[in-house]
Amino acid sequence: MSGLVFNDVSKHFGNFAAVDRVNLSVPHGTFVCMLGPSGCGKTTLLRMVAGLEEPTTGTILLDGKDITPVPTHKRNLGMVFQSLALFPHLTVGENVAYPLRIRSMAKEEQKKRVEELLTLIHLPGYAERPVSKLSGGQRQRVAIARALALSPRLFLLDEPLSALDAKLREAMQVELRQLQQKLGITTIVVTHDQREAMTMADLVVVMGDGRIRQAASPIDIYRKPADAFVADFIGSTNLLTVEADSAGRAIVLGQPVPGLSLPNGMAKGLISIRPEDVHLAKNANGGIRGKVTFIRDLGGTIETFVDASGTTIVAVTTPRERGDITAGAEVNVVLPADSCVVLKQ
Ligand code: ATP
Repeated sequence: MSGLVFNDVSKHFGNFAAVDRVNLSVPHGTFVCMLGPSGCGKTTLLRMVAGLEEPTTGTILLDGKDITPVPTHKRNLGMVFQSLALFPHLTVGENVAYPLRIRSMAKEEQKKRVEELLTLIHLPGYAERPVSKLSGGQRQRVAIARALALSPRLFLLDEPLSALDAKLREAMQVELRQLQQKLGITTIVVTHDQREAMTMADLVVVMGDGRIRQAASPIDIYRKPADAFVADFIGSTNLLTVEADSAGRAIVLGQPVPGLSLPNGMAKGLISIRPEDVHLAKNANGGIRGKVTFIRDLGGTIETFVDASGTTIVAVTTPRERGDITAGAEVNVVLPADSCVVLKQ
């Protein structure tokens, strides 16, 4: 296969498995975001792709070739780390040209390539500027240009945007995605920011305790989480206990959810329902009875917290959908069956 393949890759530090039997195929040209809580093994997995860490077991293939024994500098990859590691005393042009100089590219050719790369990252004409005079976002772009100078086969980034403020980070996410699409380069980004992953990725890989919990498109991860860990980690969700009654109906907080049934053999489980899918009505028939405890008006959206027999359910609406529901109101919480994902407990 053209692309990157992980075959049963593990990394142990002593008795501890930082990465635990990872199997994954990444087709060429895919933008992958590795996502997961701190310590779940994202960076270790990326470092193994980079050749900075040796797998304890398993192999990594690039375009069908086993690269596990290949040293970093022969893997044909570009890397950007959180620290950027730019040379502060050099100009933008000198920084970007550094890998070209190491490869002894002719001076004129270097100059041409640097200008090409600076145009690509929207900093044309910046070659003579000292790197120390650039803004955070501009430095980020210079680090990206330097990593791409030798047209690598693989582009690896570890938390590349985490030092930027929220607004700039969002702009850079879009820019990075557009750049990757333009170049069609297989890219792996490690992040703990799920919005970042949802914005940029073709393939989101959610990790937990060294293992891949789910690898799927952003929308599938959001709409069809594989388990409660993924559902809870990506976006916010309501995780509620569900039980089958003797008539086979799915019961949540004492009430049947019309149209919902549990898979054969499952007596008890969880449902995940996103706050934007929860309906609240003041005088509806059916649904779960509850009391509004708190309303958070965020301007564009409104979060309504409902207490139902000691369990909090969160609903998100637009201001227009809010109606006349206020704190303290008794409401019926309606869970549409087609928005409920049934998960093992
Ligand atoms: P973060 O988001 O905090 O960077 P991460 O998901 O990237 O976390 P890793 O850096 O891959 O996590 O670390 C995974 C686990 O392996 C952690 O528990 C970490 O302490 C451990 N670990 C990583 N490198 C080493 C090492 N060289 N020696 C011992 N343990 C290590």
